[in-house]
Amino acid sequence: MTDTIHNTILPMTDTTVTPEDYTGEDGLLYCGKCHKPKEAYFPEGKTFFGRDRHPSECDCQRAARKEREAAEKQRSHLETVERLKRQGFTDKTMQDWTFANDNGSCPQMKNAAGYVARWEQIKDGNYGLLLWGKVGTGKSYFAGCIANALMEQEVPVCMTNFAAILNDLTASFAGRNEYISRLCSFPLLIIDDFGIERGTEYGLEQVYNVIDSRYRSRKPLIVTTNLTLEELQHPEDTAHARIYDRLLEMCSPLCFTGENLRKAAAQGKMERLKRLLAGKEICL
Ligand SMILES: [Zn+2]
Repeated sequence: MTDTIHNTILPMTDTTVTPEDYTGEDGLLYCGKCHKPKEAYFPEGKTFFGRDRHPSECDCQRAARKEREAAEKQRSHLETVERLKRQGFTDKTMQDWTFANDNGSCPQMKNAAGYVARWEQIKDGNYGLLLWGKVGTGKSYFAGCIANALMEQEVPVCMTNFAAILNDLTASFAGRNEYISRLCSFPLLIIDDFGIERGTEYGLEQVYNVIDSRYRSRKPLIVTTNLTLEELQHPEDTAHARIYDRLLEMCSPLCFTGENLRKAAAQGKMERLKRLLAGKEICL
């Protein structure tokens, strides 16, 4: 035990001395840079294995420690965000759907920023969104921006679609309940590209299971769909009706209108190519 103290513990209590350091009038070692003591006496003349003093941080040492701790905190934060994004998206390209990468062409995008900014109230009030409108109007990108921004605040989000969910459910017949519980455990669940017009009875049953479980979890759900609000409000049969009713109960409809952004992007790209082929400079 004494050996352990002498070989292990006492060296840890040694003060780091640099050539500029000096001994002050009180007999303590002072930092040559910030002129603050690097040691302190034990209170009331107490000693520890013959020592009357212990190391103490000078201003430079404290600053260096704070910097090390901040770097460690940042590293662990980035690691968490990276893991959440790896596990939260079905498709890696969704990691690029961020506010920073947005080209400003979708007028609805300010609502996505608002959803993230007021996330605490959104979560507490269980406010879901139903993003509907024609193909290519930026609904998935909108949802992806919310997902990325929340994950960057270390909020776990799952962005998936029913094709992937039904695939997973079929593959994990035994663990079906666990799988659905996991989907419901995410503070925010995003189901992209919802549209089950030609769903089988089995498929519809599973879709209802997932939607209803999420409903009972009282956590928000965002759904993107190419179906119109009219189609969702007037389903063709009861199997669809109970799914759509639940969705409309959980999610406030937000209509995406305007030009087809994908078409516009393709058009822009074609214009740039034409200019490139004509030998003109292009601005990307
Ligand atoms: Zn110092």
